[in-house]
Amino acid sequence: MQPEKKMAFPGDIIATAEEYLPGKNTEEKNGEIIAIKFGNIMKDDINLVISVDPEKKEFSIHRGDIVYGQVIKGDQRRFIIRAVAVFQKGYGLKEVDQEVHLPLNNFRKTVNSEFMAVGDRVKAFVVRAGDTPEVSVNGQHFGVVGAFCSRCRQPLVKKGMTLYCENCQRTEIRKNADDYGMVDVFNYTEGMTERNQRGNYRNGPVRNGGRNHIRG
Ligand SMILES: [Zn+2]
Repeated sequence: MQPEKKMAFPGDIIATAEEYLPGKNTEEKNGEIIAIKFGNIMKDDINLVISVDPEKKEFSIHRGDIVYGQVIKGDQRRFIIRAVAVFQKGYGLKEVDQEVHLPLNNFRKTVNSEFMAVGDRVKAFVVRAGDTPEVSVNGQHFGVVGAFCSRCRQPLVKKGMTLYCENCQRTEIRKNADDYGMVDVFNYTEGMTERNQRGNYRNGPVRNGGRNHIRG
């Protein structure tokens, strides 16, 4: 006898319509009851109703998570980044919409424009969780992964250690991640594209297409 299944994925057949009536988060199709959400299978054997209880585990950003976002503001003390995706161990990549802060105390005397600029797409890791998580871009894997020319808004391409605008033939400097130009996690976030009104996203920093390049 097979052990009874406890969890259901969307699309799983969890019973036949002869056994149970479809309850919450299920639907009946061709005599079968199918889960439409991920969760625990709940059987009410008195009323003969089967349902799926999506465990409401509130997702929160943890220390060590990797966040992907766009710089929306910067001053002497910090950059404000709107995170659009978070990579968390055991959870994978998750779409979010949350503000995180990148304090600049570790980058004394750094001229802002030679570190990061508003509009840049960045990859950072969380150093402090909370209502407004704090992130860091220390290390070669973290930093700017996509940037636009401050003059013409064309995407900058990586040239050695610096970034280059082929249109203006000029160089800009950022604190780059080693996978600059190869992170396409931003592709699926429509809101981000709309907010970025000046940059032509179709020719944006990510042109290699296809899969996400997630490297820790
Ligand atoms: Zn340019």
